[in-house]
Amino acid sequence: MSSPVIVWFRRDFRLADNPALWEAVKPGVPVVPVYIHAPEEESPWQPGEASLWWLHHSLTDFAKRLRNRGSQLIIRSGETLRELRALVSETGAAAVYWNRLYDPATIERDKSVKAALKEANVEVRSFNGALLFEPWTVENKSGQPFQVFTPFWKHCTREFEPPDPLPARRGISTPDSWPATRGVKDLDLLPKIPWDSEFHSVWSPGEEGARNNIKSFLKNTVSRYSDDRNRPDLTGTSRLSPHLHFGEITPRQVWHEIRKHEEKTGSKSGTGKYLAEIGWREFAHHLVYHFPHTTTRPLRADFEEFPWRESESFLHVWQRGMTGYPIVDAGMRELWTTGWMHNRVRMIVASFLVKHLRLHWTHGTRWFWDTLVDADLASNTMGWQWSAGCGADAAPYFRIFNPMLQGAKFDPKGEYVRKWVPEIQRLPVKHLNAPWETPAAVLNEAGVRLGETYPKPLVDHKTAREEALAAFATIRKK
Ligand SMILES: Cc1cc2nc3c(=O)[nH]c(=O)nc-3n(C[C@H](O)[C@H](O)[C@H](O)COP(=O)(O)OP(=O)(O)OC[C@H]3O[C@@H](n4cnc5c(N)ncnc54)[C@H](O)[C@@H]3O)c2cc1C
Repeated sequence: MSSPVIVWFRRDFRLADNPALWEAVKPGVPVVPVYIHAPEEESPWQPGEASLWWLHHSLTDFAKRLRNRGSQLIIRSGETLRELRALVSETGAAAVYWNRLYDPATIERDKSVKAALKEANVEVRSFNGALLFEPWTVENKSGQPFQVFTPFWKHCTREFEPPDPLPARRGISTPDSWPATRGVKDLDLLPKIPWDSEFHSVWSPGEEGARNNIKSFLKNTVSRYSDDRNRPDLTGTSRLSPHLHFGEITPRQVWHEIRKHEEKTGSKSGTGKYLAEIGWREFAHHLVYHFPHTTTRPLRADFEEFPWRESESFLHVWQRGMTGYPIVDAGMRELWTTGWMHNRVRMIVASFLVKHLRLHWTHGTRWFWDTLVDADLASNTMGWQWSAGCGADAAPYFRIFNPMLQGAKFDPKGEYVRKWVPEIQRLPVKHLNAPWETPAAVLNEAGVRLGETYPKPLVDHKTAREEALAAFATIRKK
């Protein structure tokens, strides 16, 4: 029998379309699937609490799927290189394969792991399993990274059709004996205080959950995606983001599912728009790879001088969804309760934090990092820099979202706000986005006592807007 191959899984918890696993599984070659829990190696962006919740369930699902195929997921924790070396020596493995990640810390870690294993005569191969376009393969006419989405995506997709996704291999050969493993539970990933009670009803982590999501999206939602994707009161999007982040489904699989759907239905309604959103995910990875400092610092250097406000209490009020602006509070509560927030509302709450409250965008990045089940360094960094106006292809800082108008436009019947801010659910829809401008009799009738049952606005919209513009003017002058 040949020497085993170790497949090191990181955020690619799937059997299908998994290039590292596909290459490792060959007749007669035993495969040792391994997960090593080493969150501190991703510092300063080790997974937040909500991500750890997802990780627990994703690992549990993946371990089960491997068991069903007669294999086993070996789980270790501690320094990755030490564990991989130990596993090589315990199993007699001649090779270690993995699928690549693109965050600055993991790139550095993986480079040094690769060098050390090669030094020890272990064959190392890495693969692209997470992106359609790896960041170093795309450049503009001047040989530079793209900084604007539309030309980036046009360039990428010109005459492009990704190869077919790889199927799940049957018959994963096993080693003569398995090395020692820990259980998923031993990693202690679940919260001590049970704030995750609602998560179970909203999410099904794992490869099958991802597949069910895309199926139901294609059946019920995609044809209206172009219209409904901005409506937080509807199921207008795919909710695939955590599945994509943890590699339970690949963008290549998504692409082909979309193409199959187009062929089957003869309709392209919503599909191009949807693939462009997958394109934004690619663009985010492109940016974080080429500009790794942007995870904490603005891409536009003039924003280094922006006069941000420091206020723990403002931040706390925003985090708890108690700003007195219903659409903002609804979003922050949806996030806390379900680990996810609709994209339109992410933009509204982010704009509110950086423009109305003038708090540094990294406070927002950090809170999202801890509370989102889809927290992703590339997409989160790009989303926050876009909202703060300091990133690539960003919303200009002087364009300040009006939360009342945004609420009225994208939640026209007020159903989203009523769901997440029940204190004001009996207000008529025309008052729902500005309770402080509502006549006393109407408030009374709806059982709302401002400042008691629901907060008064934390800041005045008009004043906050003027102050934000004045702050912006200071960096423009410089
Ligand atoms: C401030 C802010 C922070 C964000 N943080 C994250 C994050 O940490 N992780 C994350 O995955 N997305 C993030 N996004 C992007 C976006 O909000 C989510 O990807 C989207 O809401 C996920 O829901 P969905 O799967 O139903 O999206 P769909 O509309 O169904 O889109 C399909 C897929 O395309 C990708 N996508 C869609 N929009 C974007 C976008 N604007 N940027 C990058 N990829 C996109 C996602 O992978 C998504 O799953 C952020 C956006 C903002 C404004």
